[in-house]
Amino acid sequence: MTDNTFPINRFAELPTPFYAYSIGLLSQTLQAVSNAAGADAHIHYAVKANANPVILQEIARAGFGADCVSGGEIEAALAAGFEAKKIVYAGVGKTDAEILLGIDAGIGCFNVESAEELEIIAALAAEKNKIVRVALRVNPNVDAHTHKHITTGLSENKFGINLEALLPIAERAVALPSIELSGLHFHIGSQMLDMSPYAELCIKINELQDSLAKNGIFVSSINVGGGLGVDYDDPDKNPIADFESYFATFRNGLKLRPGQTLHFELGRSIVAQCGSLISRCIYVKHGTVKKFVILDAGMTELIRPALYGARHKIQNISAPEGSPIETYDVVGPVCESSDVFVAGGHLPLTQRGDLLAIRSAGAYGEVMASNYNCRKLHPAYFFN
Ligand SMILES: *Cc1c(COP(=O)(O)O)cnc(C)c1O
Repeated sequence: MTDNTFPINRFAELPTPFYAYSIGLLSQTLQAVSNAAGADAHIHYAVKANANPVILQEIARAGFGADCVSGGEIEAALAAGFEAKKIVYAGVGKTDAEILLGIDAGIGCFNVESAEELEIIAALAAEKNKIVRVALRVNPNVDAHTHKHITTGLSENKFGINLEALLPIAERAVALPSIELSGLHFHIGSQMLDMSPYAELCIKINELQDSLAKNGIFVSSINVGGGLGVDYDDPDKNPIADFESYFATFRNGLKLRPGQTLHFELGRSIVAQCGSLISRCIYVKHGTVKKFVILDAGMTELIRPALYGARHKIQNISAPEGSPIETYDVVGPVCESSDVFVAGGHLPLTQRGDLLAIRSAGAYGEVMASNYNCRKLHPAYFFN
């Protein structure tokens, strides 16, 4: 094991805020995924979780494929060295230009989310005399029991094709000469720590395969998406997600047909724990009742708390050992009331100038940064 503790001395003088990534932990995580998944699983890293080029290159070098949700992500994945044929492309609103980019690059599969999209992909492929591989993204109506903004598998949802609508679209895909119907695709939600929704998904997939088979439809690949959660409360205790249970749930639950390949699209669980957002306390404001630690990082650098009410572990990495523990609201400088990392959090006595680490910020952190309030985008540094 490499030492993943944050090398504060190396970074103490740098302007804040910035993202700090442990490449050592990232590569241990990739190794853990490969070991738990087994040789015949195909892993496509969900680029939207973190598209930093250094991170992408590391993941591409480990032999993973990529899961993209825009033309820009396909370009980023190709530039980082992902093989085109290992790229899968999902998204409810693929434009013609993005579809053409995918066709020209020769990506492995389009994950199609609606009947109309299928027709457009077929027409664009036909114009180019190409046959493109397509998986139909199915809405299996499985409740991921997660935050409403990150639940995607229920039927009333902008993502995917409802079970009732699937058969005619599948038959149409089989009939279209420029389309090869190669698979079924699912993605039911994110930050899932309980395996039971995945077990339920397996049952739905088995039933669906049986009912499609009765109609003479067979596919060569099953893609179960991503969504495995990480321990935001205690990243040091659980720096690597429970990949063993996750992959075992599918190995035990899915009845794959002979020759069928199994695909996964993990994002968060690969990159969340390797990243921290490092910020400096600018002021400590004493209100009537509360004390506020005001940071130089805010929702513009890490929007998850403001967007989903997410909680991240926050550490004062400057405070001397044995400092008294105080209660603070830790907030950012952005002019929005929701720009709060934690309300009523416990930290060692904090003062102006202290460095704070907001942990588990590797996923949906830097990649969701914005210029709101005309703030600058901030750099990333890498350590082992
Ligand atoms: C976001 C997304 C993923 C990755 O989800 P994580 O929760 O980060 O693992 C996988 N597949 C699709 C289609 C997605 O939209």
